[in-house]
Amino acid sequence: MSPMLDLELAKGAIMADEKKTYTFRCTVCGYEVTIDEPQLPDDYVCPVCGVGPDMFELVDEG
Ligand SMILES: [Zn+2]
Repeated sequence: MSPMLDLELAKGAIMADEKKTYTFRCTVCGYEVTIDEPQLPDDYVCPVCGVGPDMFELVDEG
């Protein structure tokens, strides 16, 4: 077994233990944030451009 494959297996095991996460991207400035909720909090504001959660789109679920 190659060292590379070992690494991939180890990474997979770690990932399986982690909570499900959701990545959102600000459609205004492109800032991305990953949280463990399927929805951003109502009072979330983009740290870069200051818009609310309405301007974010879900880009990755994992
Ligand atoms: Zn933004």
